[in-house]
Amino acid sequence: MRSKDKREQMVKKLAVIGKDVSKSTSPQMHGFIAKKLNLEVSYEKISIPEAEFETRIESLLNGYDGLNVTIPYKLSVIPHLKKTEGDAKVFGAVNTVNCKSLYGYNTDGLGFALMLKNNGVEVNGKTALLLGAGGAGRSVAKKLLDGGAKVFVYDRTAESALNLEKEFNGVTALSQIENTAYDIIINATGVGMHKTEGLSPVGEELLKLCGVAVDLIYCPAKSKFLQIAEGLGKKIINGKAMLFYQAYYADCIFFGLTPDEAQAKQLFNEFSKEEI
Ligand code: NAP
Repeated sequence: MRSKDKREQMVKKLAVIGKDVSKSTSPQMHGFIAKKLNLEVSYEKISIPEAEFETRIESLLNGYDGLNVTIPYKLSVIPHLKKTEGDAKVFGAVNTVNCKSLYGYNTDGLGFALMLKNNGVEVNGKTALLLGAGGAGRSVAKKLLDGGAKVFVYDRTAESALNLEKEFNGVTALSQIENTAYDIIINATGVGMHKTEGLSPVGEELLKLCGVAVDLIYCPAKSKFLQIAEGLGKKIINGKAMLFYQAYYADCIFFGLTPDEAQAKQLFNEFSKEEI
């Protein structure tokens, strides 16, 4: 990793903001990455009730060097920024803010793509069934298309899937899920965590026809969706690496560093070992 500017290698005041980030593991991840790269950070979790967001966001943007933004503020932060860059421009959603430049970025898709790559999942020429066309689903669809996959998307709100089809050439919206074979199946619905823990958005009949099963959920580490797929002998991937890699890419933005995929992989492997 090369430094663009020595002055950027100072203590950075960072935070994750969202409606409820009390259980966020961002401080541990960013702290780990910073320590390994000899960077200095302070990292806070700031939960903001929705009614307070508009009154508090400006002082947060002024008071921090960088912010990670999560549900439900990935869109509402945009009017407070000067510009969106890269995937943030394409998705219209921001998960990383450089508070000095007031530029917004989105590193979720980069995290997803690197997770697939590091798990040896080739998407070029493959078919993918994406379940869920919300914020994360959009990043996933874009990266699968960029990688050369044909993407089929189902969302319980048909309009969300249709919007994705209209927006991205190469996406086909499905009005219902039929038991058809797909090379990759991705759960981006959120079904299987929190109150829906123990549930899967699809059953064995479909999963047995599919190849790799990817769940963006990382807690629990093995959702019901992944448990079913694993029981059928499928390769399974949870969302932990995606989460770590999006944090790594965000840190590169905060510190003005050039991302290095090999370094990101090594850091994730070390982080996973330390957590056990
Ligand atoms: P979101 O914006 O709420 O999107 C979820 C989408 O799935 C919504 O469109 C929702 O429809 C749809 N949906 C819900 N239940 C469904 C079902 N049973 N069948 C079909 N569609 C269904 O949430 P998000 O931000 O995209 O997050 C989605 C998941 O990804 C969460 O589990 C989140 O934790 C995970 N995530 C992981 C990472 C990572 O780094 N690993 C990053 C971002 C997100 P409605 O509009 O009708 O509710």
